[in-house]
Amino acid sequence: MPSASIAAPPDRLLRQEVLALHAYHVPPATGMIKLDAMENPYPLPPSLREEIARLVANAAINRYPDPGAHSLKEKIRAVTGLAQDAAVLLGNGSDELIQLLALAVARPGATLLSVDPSFVMYRMIAAFTGMRYAGVPLAENFALDLPAVLGAIQRHQPALVFLAYPNNPSGNLFDEEAIKQILAAAPGLVVVDEAYYAFARASFIPLLSQYQNLLVMRTFSKLGMAGLRLGFLAGSRIWLEQLEKLRLPYNVGVLTQQVAEKLLQHHDVLLQQAEQIKRDRAWLYERLVGTADVRPYPSEANFILFRAMHADDVFAGLKQRGVLIKNLNGTHSLLADCLRVTVGTPEENERFVAALQESLHTARASFGES
Ligand SMILES: *Cc1c(COP(=O)(O)O)cnc(C)c1O
Repeated sequence: MPSASIAAPPDRLLRQEVLALHAYHVPPATGMIKLDAMENPYPLPPSLREEIARLVANAAINRYPDPGAHSLKEKIRAVTGLAQDAAVLLGNGSDELIQLLALAVARPGATLLSVDPSFVMYRMIAAFTGMRYAGVPLAENFALDLPAVLGAIQRHQPALVFLAYPNNPSGNLFDEEAIKQILAAAPGLVVVDEAYYAFARASFIPLLSQYQNLLVMRTFSKLGMAGLRLGFLAGSRIWLEQLEKLRLPYNVGVLTQQVAEKLLQHHDVLLQQAEQIKRDRAWLYERLVGTADVRPYPSEANFILFRAMHADDVFAGLKQRGVLIKNLNGTHSLLADCLRVTVGTPEENERFVAALQESLHTARASFGES
């Protein structure tokens, strides 16, 4: 018999914020058409895959990676067109950078402010790091409610503001002038999260030199490297050299550094895939507009948010038919009956639309509506 332990159970040892969290849930998707996570559906061209295979075969995985990832950073600077005086900080995905930023500013009582609904990790990471979270509701059609945001900045004096541009899950770009006013009013850092940059081509990077409290965050996940885990933060050296202290020394591995660098050498391939996804987004949007009992919202990202009658049943019907999207119904009052679909390949999109129509039909029938 093992002797009784004197160690405290989790609810005595862990912080209340941690106990109250729900783990970020990733549903199983084996064998499904996976349109739930904003991934690029396209594989790389065979020649590029072979180059990567050679790189991986020769990589010194017995050695620690270059902690400064100098060569990769140079590539990122080049493809991003960053000014020489801007600094770059790399993260193991941009999620890690959100966490690093929060850790850096989480003094007792410090507030992280964002809008709701937006990317859920802002709120979760505020909770992990013991920060207060202020979520300002978006206005109609998911536009920024500027007076409400400015009022909340006044009241909460946030150390950190996150704005996803375009926003996830709504897909729209917030008004640029409104964001400039937020930059001017915020007493702390304002991070413009450009995760979907490749599909929107609107950016605050050209404004970095004008606002010292502006940081622009990007990820390569949505561009076709979700599996590599790489994101970066660009901004003033004054801030980034401080934040750099919190980065764990080898957060971006040898394979990620080398493969990402190779892919950025072929950035055009990824951008062409993004252009294809934008064309398919237009096709998908039109199909959703033409579907009864569905209302899509215009998107500048690689997904489309839409309202559907009987959203829970429609979501379940899609799943039964082998198509996994994201059900947002019940996650926020502005997202009642909302579902979010990632733009897939043309074949995947067609199968989604067919499955959606069948699921709507079944749901109407079970509610006695057809
Ligand atoms: C997907 C997403 C991220 C996270 O990207 P990773 O680099 O994969 O961690 C960050 N911000 C927004 C708005 C996203 O949608």
